[in-house]
Amino acid sequence: MNEKPMSQDEIFNELDKFQAMDCKYSDGRILGSMCTEAHPIAKEAFFKFVDSNLGDPGLFKGTKLIEDTVIKMIGSFLSIENPVGHMVTGGTEANIMAIRSARNMARDSKGIEDGELIVPKSAHFSFKKAADMLNLNLIRVDLDDNYRINPECVEENITENTVAIVGIAGTTELGMIDPIEDLSEIAIQNDVHLHVDAAFGGFSIPFLKERGYDLPNFDFSLEGVKSITVDPHKMGLSPIPSGGILFRDQSYLDAMSVDSPYLTIKNQSTIVGTRLGAASAATYAVMNYLGKEGYANNAIEALDKTDFLAKSLKELGFELIVEPKLNIVAFNHPDLETEELAKLLEERNWKVSCSSYPKAIRIILMNHIKKEHLIELLNDLKDISNSI
Ligand SMILES: *Cc1c(COP(=O)(O)O)cnc(C)c1O
Repeated sequence: MNEKPMSQDEIFNELDKFQAMDCKYSDGRILGSMCTEAHPIAKEAFFKFVDSNLGDPGLFKGTKLIEDTVIKMIGSFLSIENPVGHMVTGGTEANIMAIRSARNMARDSKGIEDGELIVPKSAHFSFKKAADMLNLNLIRVDLDDNYRINPECVEENITENTVAIVGIAGTTELGMIDPIEDLSEIAIQNDVHLHVDAAFGGFSIPFLKERGYDLPNFDFSLEGVKSITVDPHKMGLSPIPSGGILFRDQSYLDAMSVDSPYLTIKNQSTIVGTRLGAASAATYAVMNYLGKEGYANNAIEALDKTDFLAKSLKELGFELIVEPKLNIVAFNHPDLETEELAKLLEERNWKVSCSSYPKAIRIILMNHIKKEHLIELLNDLKDISNSI
């Protein structure tokens, strides 16, 4: 490290050089990201609250009120009037919190020591981290032909050690929505915690449903659902790190609270201690600014681009893995390995992402991908297709 102070100009010159190495969303070349450029109003609010610490909410009473309000606002489109929960760093932390709560509840009420966690094969890898950290045995169950969890396989895998079942509303790789209604029934019958991971779909499915799109129910209106993950930093247009975890009532937070001696509060249920208030302020700002109408328009626009891409790909002879439900398209070329196609696209300066199950090129139609980028991409794909 430098001995003498560096000038502000020099520092920012250097930072600019680093930033120039980054990809920019606005180039429209990032095809596989679930994040996008945050809304300007969210960024402004973020910087305004950059010093507030929600780990010590007695000192930041206003920011704490914002966090509680945001959780309640999210609850309002997930069919729950008085949710409890927190704004966290993202889907990973939210999922870990949900499973930690479920594990502790199962331990306290049923004496389960070596717990098992049932997730679909399509589950995000954050559940591998959760299982590892929480000392749970991860049971990954099979999917149906449309890459949704198979409820019968869930039932078969429930044992006296099951601490939670996970269903996904908007899978990371394909955007599929698990049959949460069936999972809810199974969870109630077996007295097991059902957690819904709507990190990706949480900020679109409810608004699409309200506009008449035929999508399944996945929220707290289903009695078995005890917790839901929703990521404002994906379809919510809030800056990273903005995640949300909602529980049905206070008992789920109490199950994992620890004493917090030197702070203005007596106990804490979050994983993180010192934690940012800026994400809550940013999410509050963008949610109010857009309203349900804004999010609905946003989600519909994304689906329109999805339909356009899906239709055009088929016309060019590419094969879709499934008909998209949300704004993700996964496809292959019949005569090329996925990796080979990915390489050819990378050579043409597209930032490509591949799904693992099944292997495919995966495009997430986020705000930064405009129709003109898709036309460019389709031209390149046509070229590639013609040259083999
Ligand atoms: C993105 C995603 C996560 C992880 O969220 P992070 O914000 O990256 O931690 C978890 N679950 C699903 C379904 C996701 O799409």
